[in-house]
Amino acid sequence: MSDELIVVAGAGGFIGGHLVANLIDRGYRNIRAVDIKPIEDWFQCFNQVRNIVADLREKHHCQTVCQGAGEVYNFAADMGGMGFIETHKARCMLSVLINTHLLMAARASDVRRFFYASSACVYNVEKQKTAVSLCEADAYPAMPEDGYGWEKLFSERMCRHFREDFDLTTRVVRLHNVYGPHGTWEGGREKAPAAICRKVIEAKMSGNNEIEIWGDGTQIRSFMFIDDCLNGIQRMMSSAVHEPLNLGANEPVSINQLVDIAEEIAGTRLKRHYILDAPQGVYARNSDNTNIKRYLNWEPTTRLRDGMEKLYAWIYDEWTAKYA
Ligand code: NAD
Repeated sequence: MSDELIVVAGAGGFIGGHLVANLIDRGYRNIRAVDIKPIEDWFQCFNQVRNIVADLREKHHCQTVCQGAGEVYNFAADMGGMGFIETHKARCMLSVLINTHLLMAARASDVRRFFYASSACVYNVEKQKTAVSLCEADAYPAMPEDGYGWEKLFSERMCRHFREDFDLTTRVVRLHNVYGPHGTWEGGREKAPAAICRKVIEAKMSGNNEIEIWGDGTQIRSFMFIDDCLNGIQRMMSSAVHEPLNLGANEPVSINQLVDIAEEIAGTRLKRHYILDAPQGVYARNSDNTNIKRYLNWEPTTRLRDGMEKLYAWIYDEWTAKYA
């Protein structure tokens, strides 16, 4: 551990907040935590570090926060689950300003390492009609998720070219559905695990015992618990791997199976209503972990049932504090 300055962009969000907590646990204190949201809206906020509210689409803010930094982690993006990214494509694409200006500022400040959080949404949508597990080569020929996925793929490539042309060391992972406590669980930006836990809690607490499911419930996904995500980021950041790697769980489940798990945790069975015209994304997507195992000798290990139990307990507490 050194006293090198670490910048965490998007620190008021789900993964950024957990990374700051994780860095503090590992003994780091020289941290600039940055987010556009007012501090009271940050999921986690720590007094031991410098917390800065700034719009990182603005170049001058990126220059200020990167000054003197050794490492920069970019988690800042205007994003959410399928319901958000399918209806806010321009806003998702405008996050390109954040990564562009952070890369430029990192280069100008001689940052030692730059981390970028890409996404499984970069994968060619055509390949997800037949293949379930996606390996890194499946991003090309490029036909990613409209809006959000194109921004991620472009930003990944920008990281690559800053490395090749400007000698800025960059590391990129393609995250597959991360879940856990201290994230969005209501309001429209939440992802499937949190949305399903909340709906199960609402159905149980209200006594109506019914649940709405987006799509027909047969869509396949994999979900990675936040602890595995942090572990993978740390391994990737200290590795020599400069190509983007999948960082996701290799435990494919259908949305129906995810609901089964949440119901089992809650000790209830609900009547299911399928909303067939709701946003649901591609049919099937799982993380092919061949490369992460080969290069980092590791892959996520938390069982979905175990992680969901922790998520459910956290959302239950949040829900009852707010509504009960
Ligand atoms: P999040 O929405 O919880 O956090 C993102 C944070 O960025 C938010 O707090 C937001 O306020 C902040 N932000 C947005 N615009 C900003 C701006 N202009 N300036 C400064 N801050 C700004 O999302 P998350 O789940 O923590 O995701 C973090 C990163 O990982 C994102 O880039 C996301 O695309 C990527 N990712 C996440 C997942 C996942 O399952 N959570 C999957 C794939 C990729």
